Amino acid sequence: MTANVLFAGRPDAWPAYEPLLRAEFARLGVPANLRNEFAPEEVDYIIFAPNGPVSDFTPFTRLKAVLSLWAGVEKITPNASLTVPLTRMVDSGLEQGMTEWVAGHSLRYHLGMDTHILDQNGRWEPKAPPLAKDRNVTVLGLGALGTASAQALAALGFQVSGWSRTQKEIEGVSCFAGADGLKEALAKAEIVILLLPDTPATENTLNAETLAMLPRGAKIINPGRGPLIDDGALLAALDSGQVGHATLDVFRIEPLPPEHPYWAHPNVTVTPHIASETRESTAAEVIAENIRRAEAGEPLLHLVDRSLGY
Ligand code: NDP
Repeated sequence: MTANVLFAGRPDAWPAYEPLLRAEFARLGVPANLRNEFAPEEVDYIIFAPNGPVSDFTPFTRLKAVLSLWAGVEKITPNASLTVPLTRMVDSGLEQGMTEWVAGHSLRYHLGMDTHILDQNGRWEPKAPPLAKDRNVTVLGLGALGTASAQALAALGFQVSGWSRTQKEIEGVSCFAGADGLKEALAKAEIVILLLPDTPATENTLNAETLAMLPRGAKIINPGRGPLIDDGALLAALDSGQVGHATLDVFRIEPLPPEHPYWAHPNVTVTPHIASETRESTAAEVIAENIRRAEAGEPLLHLVDRSLGY
């Protein structure tokens, strides 16, 4: 049977995805009728992004699964009209991009790069930076992106700690889990990287209480999601010096409104949700493989647990 596959990602992404997905379906031997328009009652699978054309799944009466092009699924999980399995994006290109972004911003802090890049003032004051082995970096969230980032930081020589909901074992990373584990994960963290999903349980993971657990002057890097941080508490911690600097890629409201205090704060770097993105060529492989699995009656990869929200 040929599966009807609706591409419901961002409309301007269709020209890039169409040939890649067709090639992958052919390579895997999956008979698929791929289009960006269908009568809803004819659709078997939806390749989905929240900035695409579908928001109500009710008319898709024979739908078998929804395959998200995004890693973060907080905009889909609350959708009550979605009653079929949902998969999220785990993509080697997305992981590579995130790893590079995290490593770059961590090294900026570790090496104190701003001193020489932003403050070149004619003074010759040779002071070599410390070695990574003497710097503790903590990654909150040890999923696809957190694990890849933690491993890359460990490979650079950092003392890496990580924290997740369930206990993990990752070579080169001291792993902590659960509410008690968070305190231990933060106690030595000179740089904290947030790669948690946005769920009811992760909202305000960094708040006045947890920011106070950090060593004074710690740096925060948030490529996860805006609601992971209590913004008021972070601004207060930046003003008091408890937090030395923050690099924020994601926000409760995006684009970040021009009047938001983060834009003007001297100790905040704002980046416009560019830490990483799904890469079409590798994502097409993941999507086509999951549709192959679904058609063959095999378990889907990267299934979302709707009760947990990720
Ligand atoms: P995963 O689902 O693979 O990993 C999530 C991790 O968070 C897991 O380790 C999980 O624990 C942990 N976690 C979830 N809930 C809790 C909790 N209550 N307490 C402690 N730990 C928890 O996600 P990814 O790594 O693929 O992606 C992470 C996030 O990165 C995405 O949700 C998205 O928001 C963001 N992102 C940002 C991008 C950007 O450009 N800025 C690009 C892509 C993604 P456990 O392992 O025990 O389940």
